[in-house]
Amino acid sequence: MMIEVEGLVKKYDNFLAVDKVSFQVQKGEVFGLLGPNGAGKTTTIEMLVGLRKPDDGTARLAGFDVKKEVNRVKEVIGVQLQSTSLFELLTVQEIMEMYASFYPTHVPISPLIEQMQLTEKRKSRVKSLSGGQKQRLAIALAIIHDPKIVFLDEPTTGLDPQARRTLWDIIEQLKAKGKTIVLSTHYMDEAHVLCDRIAIMDKGHLIALDTPENLVRSLHSESAIEFTLLEKEHHSFIEELSGVFQVTERNNRFVLYTDSLQSTLTDVIVRASTSNIKIHDLQTRTSTLEDVFIHLTGRSLRE
Ligand code: ADP
Repeated sequence: MMIEVEGLVKKYDNFLAVDKVSFQVQKGEVFGLLGPNGAGKTTTIEMLVGLRKPDDGTARLAGFDVKKEVNRVKEVIGVQLQSTSLFELLTVQEIMEMYASFYPTHVPISPLIEQMQLTEKRKSRVKSLSGGQKQRLAIALAIIHDPKIVFLDEPTTGLDPQARRTLWDIIEQLKAKGKTIVLSTHYMDEAHVLCDRIAIMDKGHLIALDTPENLVRSLHSESAIEFTLLEKEHHSFIEELSGVFQVTERNNRFVLYTDSLQSTLTDVIVRASTSNIKIHDLQTRTSTLEDVFIHLTGRSLRE
């Protein structure tokens, strides 16, 4: 095991930010921490990388204990945090050389700049880079000493879709090189695409842990049917529909989870038309990790 976490706890005064979190990560895995803001993802990562002291529990990275062998741990990890601040007046090349000089050995700088798609920017000052370029530079700096384990805390938050895709490619490349990656995110699509396994966190608790496919499968409902009812009082027909496992509602928008899309959908349309109920914006889709989160917590990831 590359990462072994057992019963990790962090309190801020009396507030439990992380409550007995346990998981293991194998070499070469991309492991996701998925949860809404405040779930405890950053605090978990900060404890693992030695920036915060756990109040209880243990963690070992590549066999080294994060409490007792901090220096050994630092040799085997690379960290990109949301708060990573860069020297704005240096150029990309200069800041990479500076970071490289901090370590006894480092990877060759030019190929790393190339890999991070920053070759055109090597002589540009950091302050002139776009958000996506800065994130890629932060990742380059995190891996310049060729660590075994890379921590990425919400690496794509605030980036435009294209910059996110570029970062996804880079994370895939790191995986292909055999790195073990711990990635926190509140984007369920990102977690689904990138992660081999995902720990879903909420309010300091780890509430589910599995592959993205198994998490969605655990819903026992492959499809979701969504529609809006103009008159909410007309919703009683929903209870009589066939094949429906769960129903959620927000602002008169109903989401029905079903294991038999075709018959439920037919049932919705027939019952609504015979009762003269107006249904708007009807959509069907495959269930997602977002639905898993709603199923587990009753809330949306986006709240
Ligand atoms: P996430 O990364 O999932 O958004 P965090 O680990 O940043 O979550 O935060 C978990 C909880 O701990 C939040 O409720 C946050 O307000 C709280 N918290 C984080 N850092 C501190 C701190 N230094 N002092 C007090 N509370 C904190």
